[in-house]
Amino acid sequence: MAVPKRRTSKQRKRTRSANWKLSLPGISECPQCKSPVLSHRACKNCGYYNGVKVIPDKVKKAAE
Ligand SMILES: [Zn+2]
Repeated sequence: MAVPKRRTSKQRKRTRSANWKLSLPGISECPQCKSPVLSHRACKNCGYYNGVKVIPDKVKKAAE
């Protein structure tokens, strides 16, 4: 069984566990309406995802 040659220092361990916090918010800009959207999610404002309309307009009209 493979065994680590060196003990992981406190700083190295803490740096590793802190990195995910920096890259957590996956927020990007919607190409359709320029509003902030979560990555890998359809835009709530215009209903577009990857250039395709995923959410139809019926949902918006029913609310009006
Ligand atoms: Zn949008």
